[in-house]
Amino acid sequence: MYCKCGKKAIIFRRYSGEKLCERCFNKSMVERVKKVIRKYSLIEKNDLIGVGVSGGKDSLVLLHILKKLSEKYPFDLIAITIDEGIKGYRDKSIRLVQKNCKSWGIESKIYSFKEEFGYTLDEIVKRDRELSPCSYCGVFRRYLLNKKARELGCDKLAVGHNLDDEVQTILMNFLRGDLSRFGRTGSYYIRLNEKFVPRIKPLREIPEKEDVIYALVNNIDVEFSECPYAGEAYRNNIREFLNKMEMEQPTTKYSLLRSYDKIYPLLAKNLTKEVRYCRNCGEPTIGEICKTCELLENL
Ligand code: SF4
Repeated sequence: MYCKCGKKAIIFRRYSGEKLCERCFNKSMVERVKKVIRKYSLIEKNDLIGVGVSGGKDSLVLLHILKKLSEKYPFDLIAITIDEGIKGYRDKSIRLVQKNCKSWGIESKIYSFKEEFGYTLDEIVKRDRELSPCSYCGVFRRYLLNKKARELGCDKLAVGHNLDDEVQTILMNFLRGDLSRFGRTGSYYIRLNEKFVPRIKPLREIPEKEDVIYALVNNIDVEFSECPYAGEAYRNNIREFLNKMEMEQPTTKYSLLRSYDKIYPLLAKNLTKEVRYCRNCGEPTIGEICKTCELLENL
């Protein structure tokens, strides 16, 4: 199997029919991310981009590609990592973030649940056995990422969601009838409130498998092990279903994303709610009290 340049191919993209060698694959990954950024004006001149980096493949691939782009275009980067306090897992991935940031010359900031909320996720799990760890983790992480990105003066917050994450989320929210969340998986950002740092997803059109290949061929040291609390059964079923459909029809994931993107402007217009400030902490929220304060009261 050979690339169009004549070298031996390392990947065959079934959805497009392309066979690419290592060099052409790397080039195409950077070009695709650049195209998404341009198409939706995700980054503007002189922006400071906070990148949410967990140490997993997606966030480190995102940081690596944005670093390459920032050497050519006028924007800056800062890595923001949230330490949830998951013993034997997050401590390992944080070391990888620090190591990679140091070798790429990117400033790295780390904030922890323990310092901000008074509990590690491991302690939360012991205190509350009703709600799942992910319910706390997702809400607290989003809250902290937004707050810290704003305090650092970031213009945007980039997260490493890939094509697979996006289509799973779209389908999951649709099947659950959660229209409010269904209307929040868009390609471009909407500035809801001055206290919300707009979130951008430059890897949104990159399949998960290609993130893995990019990390491997570029020798990026990433954490491949899974969080001990992972296992959202519903998402796993949707993942399996989409992968099965993609095997039968290799454009399934892109078709779903394109369809969603066509209706997104309507969804955003009709489902966007008024943003207020939390009575307790002053952070932006839709209700009287934000979800983070609500969960903290629970503890
Ligand atoms: Fe947090 Fe759940 Fe992800 Fe683990 S799997 S990092 S608990 S959201």
